[in-house]
Amino acid sequence: MKFKNKVLLVTGGNFGIGRGIAHKFAAEGTHVAIVARNENRSKEVVTELVEQGLSAKSFQADVSNEDSVINMIDEVLENFGQIDILVNNAGVGSSRSKIDRKDKPGKRWEIFRGTNLDGTYFLSAHSLPHLSKQNNSTIINISSTATFHGNWGLYGAAKAGVEGMTRSFAAEAAPYGVRVNAISPGWIETSSEQTAVAQGNSDGQWDMPPSLLNRMGTPEEIANTAAFLASSESSFITGQTLIVDGGLMIMDYPSISSLEVVGHRVFSHSDRYETL
Ligand code: NDP
Repeated sequence: MKFKNKVLLVTGGNFGIGRGIAHKFAAEGTHVAIVARNENRSKEVVTELVEQGLSAKSFQADVSNEDSVINMIDEVLENFGQIDILVNNAGVGSSRSKIDRKDKPGKRWEIFRGTNLDGTYFLSAHSLPHLSKQNNSTIINISSTATFHGNWGLYGAAKAGVEGMTRSFAAEAAPYGVRVNAISPGWIETSSEQTAVAQGNSDGQWDMPPSLLNRMGTPEEIANTAAFLASSESSFITGQTLIVDGGLMIMDYPSISSLEVVGHRVFSHSDRYETL
């Protein structure tokens, strides 16, 4: 029970990675405030947790709307009395954005900036006064490895902003003892629909492996990283973005076949042991 009686506010907690984070922290004794727009889906996650004897409540808010965020934070405080851990997980990726190329650039940017970047800012700014009252409190932002890739367009740009904001908030929150970090996930399997979009082809196979480990990551693996960043085990880490992508970002994918030319383990091979 690492986080017994702490309060976690997780945005986008009714689905995918956010749901995984809600489950992980609830199992560690945390009271979980699940924030999203679709209340029915949020209530389903609350029921899953409460049926296991864990503590959770749902709160409806659109994180891209500052007044909605302010009202929701007040409700969380009325219910739980404090906020110890904020996870800014709600996000809009290209596939779920319902973006229309006929929309003006301003409208398209608003869609990606609104939830990913404004949402992170509103939640962080309005939670900080409450986080600063608690010991070992923390903010964890969910970014994306899309920050590295031009082909993710405005989503990558907004998430790059999230990483910049992580550093700004880490600097400003440090005097209050609040640590601020980000997790940058690679491909994480959240639903079959998401998998199909990610694969981008009709036969359901990846053209290239989604990670060095030849699989997508799981919401639990991101939740485990969030638990580490919220715990005292990471007490000297702030302002950082931790990439959790199964090694995706360290590969030069166009040259991946060169491994076959030079031979696997050509650098790490030891001639003393022939076991691998
Ligand atoms: P989705 O991105 O599909 O789900 C997004 C979640 O955010 C839902 O719970 C949704 O609930 C909520 N949400 C979206 N917009 C708003 C809003 N304006 N206000 C409040 N809540 C909102 O889920 P994933 O689990 O895939 O992604 C979670 C995070 O991880 C996102 O930030 C995403 O960008 C990031 N990420 C995901 C990766 C992946 O491979 N899955 C890879 C890299 C990063 P509702 O619709 O009910 O509001």
